[in-house]
Amino acid sequence: MTDKMKKIMRYKLVILGSGPAGLTAAIYASRAQLDPLVIEGVEPGGQLMITSTVENFPGFPEGILGPQLMMNIREQAEKFGTGFLRDQVERVDLSKRPFTIQLGEETVLSDALIIATGASANWLGLKSEKELRGFGVSACATCDGFFFKNQEVAVVGGGDSAMEDAIYLTRFAKKVTVIHRRDRLRASHYMREKAFKNDKIQFIWNAVVKDILGSQENGVTAIKLQNKETGEVFEYPTNGVFIAIGHTPNTQVFRGQLDMDKAGYIQTDCKSTKTSKPGVFAAGDVQDPVYRQAISAAGTGCMAALDAERFLGEQH
Ligand code: NAP
Repeated sequence: MTDKMKKIMRYKLVILGSGPAGLTAAIYASRAQLDPLVIEGVEPGGQLMITSTVENFPGFPEGILGPQLMMNIREQAEKFGTGFLRDQVERVDLSKRPFTIQLGEETVLSDALIIATGASANWLGLKSEKELRGFGVSACATCDGFFFKNQEVAVVGGGDSAMEDAIYLTRFAKKVTVIHRRDRLRASHYMREKAFKNDKIQFIWNAVVKDILGSQENGVTAIKLQNKETGEVFEYPTNGVFIAIGHTPNTQVFRGQLDMDKAGYIQTDCKSTKTSKPGVFAAGDVQDPVYRQAISAAGTGCMAALDAERFLGEQH
């Protein structure tokens, strides 16, 4: 296909990302007659698609499966007229309006833009870790900790997230073992001390995770570790493994065009979802390294749609 034949589409509002933030923005924007287009990305539905039961999203006293919740929210957005495109953004040009969003074959122009591309948990990169995700391996203690009542779990990482997860998991698990690749934590003094003082938490230092043992039928049974100092490889029995080695916001395509913090999270005006570029709004985990909850993402998605509606109203 030549450049001339490539399709160009024009919208008042485009929403990038289809997790709780993007889809909540879509519900509000479509009800406000903005006819939004959601570009769903390569992992439609976001991080909830890889969790099991969600028990802390208001309105579901019995809990709801993550993928089911996302299907419900998507259906609600579709009912009000949201358009969907399952594609990935290759480039954006935010230097002038309408903004240009370049996909594989198509170019989308938009008067306003909501970025809700989320953040991805960092993983160790083991084959077993991928196979057992949702079967004893998780990157979200608040989502999955509850399933390990009176069991033994391991937390991999040495930062504030790992300490926070370990402390949180002691509410359910009878023993929590933090596995760190060095002999010193990266976590802040306060979090370190809190974890050291907790009787249920113990530490394995200088240990690198070589493998996670178990099956989808029986869950996790052990973790294979290597001591970095001695080279010794050993198995450590555990019922669950929580990976807490940081998150990466999905902001690569916006680099240099919007203000971000040093970790790459988009910076927003503190009382709204406005970014450093008028007409561009950010919602959900892409601008939130702190709370990272489905409900807080949905809340900022709602705010972004209202901010975009106001912005577009002022333009015309
Ligand atoms: P982080 O500070 O980057 O820590 C990541 C940890 O994971 C480090 O200990 C690192 O080890 C380890 N790690 C990284 N890659 C690894 C790998 N491939 N294998 C094994 N271990 C690996 O990330 P974070 O803990 O998510 O925190 C991110 C930011 O949020 C920080 O600024 C933090 O202060 C903040 N935060 C604050 C709170 C709070 O105050 N309550 C809670 C959560 C997060 P090394 O130490 O060896 O590099």
